[in-house]
Amino acid sequence: MKLEATVDGLMDGLRADLERLAAIPSISFPGFPAGPVEEAHDLLAGLLRDAGVPHVERLDLPDTAPVIYGEILPPTPEAPTVLLYGHYDVQPPGDEALWKSPPFEPTPVEGGLRARGIADDKSNVIAHLGMLRAYGGRPPVGIKIVIEGQEEYGSAFDDYPPSDPERFACDAMVIADLGNLRPGTPTLTTGLRGACEVVVEVRTLDEPRHSGEFGGAAPDALLVLLKALGTLHDVHGDVAVEGLRREEWDGTTYTEEEFRDLAGVRDGVPLIGSGSLGERLWSGPAITVIGLDAPSVEHAASAVVPYARAKLNLRFHPRQDPREARDRLVDHLRSLRPFGVPLTVTPGDTGPGYEAATGGPAYRAALAALKEGWGEDASYVATGGSIPLVNGLAKAAPGAEVLLFGAQDSMCNLHAPNERVLFSELRNTVVAMCAFVREYAAGHGTGADA
Ligand SMILES: [Zn+2]
Repeated sequence: MKLEATVDGLMDGLRADLERLAAIPSISFPGFPAGPVEEAHDLLAGLLRDAGVPHVERLDLPDTAPVIYGEILPPTPEAPTVLLYGHYDVQPPGDEALWKSPPFEPTPVEGGLRARGIADDKSNVIAHLGMLRAYGGRPPVGIKIVIEGQEEYGSAFDDYPPSDPERFACDAMVIADLGNLRPGTPTLTTGLRGACEVVVEVRTLDEPRHSGEFGGAAPDALLVLLKALGTLHDVHGDVAVEGLRREEWDGTTYTEEEFRDLAGVRDGVPLIGSGSLGERLWSGPAITVIGLDAPSVEHAASAVVPYARAKLNLRFHPRQDPREARDRLVDHLRSLRPFGVPLTVTPGDTGPGYEAATGGPAYRAALAALKEGWGEDASYVATGGSIPLVNGLAKAAPGAEVLLFGAQDSMCNLHAPNERVLFSELRNTVVAMCAFVREYAAGHGTGADA
């Protein structure tokens, strides 16, 4: 009860700081000004110093925005060290006409606030700050805090931690760049699917040819491509490419109704694939056609199409080797001869998935802490999105347990118009963060009260 009262007493201040931070359009995409990124960096670095972090450093690394690095030494030699991660940059707002209020004017909504980046990931950065304030800057564990500024666009920072392992050495890390399956359901994310892209091209004729004079015998490149794409899934919509790992999902998942609503699936349109939603979304593969080059309907001439290409996005099981997964898709496409025509297949970038080891002391502490935060047992989920830095951090600190939880929720519209955060989720995350460091320290024979 004392912890909850402490956190409740901090909430007005945390809300005010979240509003200040969310009012800054810290977008680290090309074409956006660097000033606000600097401003968000400076505000946050100052807030951390004021919260009692004795060492706050600015890391200027190539090809990325400044990274905030802070450190609090462990209070005793036995106390473990916890690395806290978040990012202060945000997605661009997209079409502002779709927003119900200006994206960088934090605006009250029922139970929370609306603004770009207020959930992803400024809420979690503020949750870290809340934990530090609750302990007056002297938590019962050592702290390393890493807040980067170019997560959304992608940055060279992902590969940096293994080159400076001492800086990132820790016993556990809290990657707070996600949140709960639904508001009020405490959730630990244990897996992230891997991703890769593949481009497939077809050239059948030198140039377009009159469809009346040549159609019927001259091979249409678009038709060839569509036939090829049609082999990627079976009649149920399950991926039909051999060798892509697929397992049952044994954690929690969405109800079908929640998922339809989240995805905005139109009435009368069924979902695709079979098996549980967890299996379709997290522990099985997905192939999406994300781009197609072909004549547009508006400019269509009555001609046989000589050339077409498509870009595919493959998501694969957290533990499947990325190159193996990509090769399975590439081999499948290269083996095809729709109407006898071969395809040109170009493999693109791959990013590995991630699966957290569960059952260690930090995991047990996190389960107890999430229960304390939300008053309910934690659920396990995976996510289809990837957090590339997780692999870099895990390589730098291979013995550390990795915990993924935070103040976002699946209904917070991240990367979409009208992003919002709920105060209940933020408050409960701060309670859980405080309880986590307390429980984790206690497991190492050191304790302290918030
Ligand atoms: Zn994020």
